[in-house]
Amino acid sequence: MIFLTGGHLVIFSDEVVAKMTRFVAPPESNLEAGGILLGCHRGPHVEILECTVPMRQDRRSRSGFVRRDPGHQRVALAAWQTSSRTVNFAGEWHTHPEENPIPSRVDRNTWAQQMARRRSDPLVFVIAGSGTVYCGLGLEGHLTRMNVVATTPGGTGRL
Ligand SMILES: [Zn+2]
Repeated sequence: MIFLTGGHLVIFSDEVVAKMTRFVAPPESNLEAGGILLGCHRGPHVEILECTVPMRQDRRSRSGFVRRDPGHQRVALAAWQTSSRTVNFAGEWHTHPEENPIPSRVDRNTWAQQMARRRSDPLVFVIAGSGTVYCGLGLEGHLTRMNVVATTPGGTGRL
């Protein structure tokens, strides 16, 4: 799945799309889910190669997901080390119980904090809904909504 805005491409591996898709369908979709995105920065573009999924200490509710399990950070560190420092934290994803998700105020505040900590590289923020996917690019403190330009082979224009 590929998103575009202003000369920036964000490319999701099929594996990442498959992992997120599992959480927007019942029974998993009864509770929000989420995790971090891991990938490579290639010039202005970002390639998302891996993602984490909900872990034991995370808080999942009908309309909220709070990432609390330290396991996400451990996965990021392991990926960084085994990839010779090419695969890094590249953003986060979560689900919403709505067809066409839009970021909440809490989402925007959380993302702004992450952008403030990582000023150099663009970050990717995904909300997966039951119908469409919101993908935002965070760069230099600004959030830009991206447009989908290609779906996963066999996909339907959805995730
Ligand atoms: Zn949200």
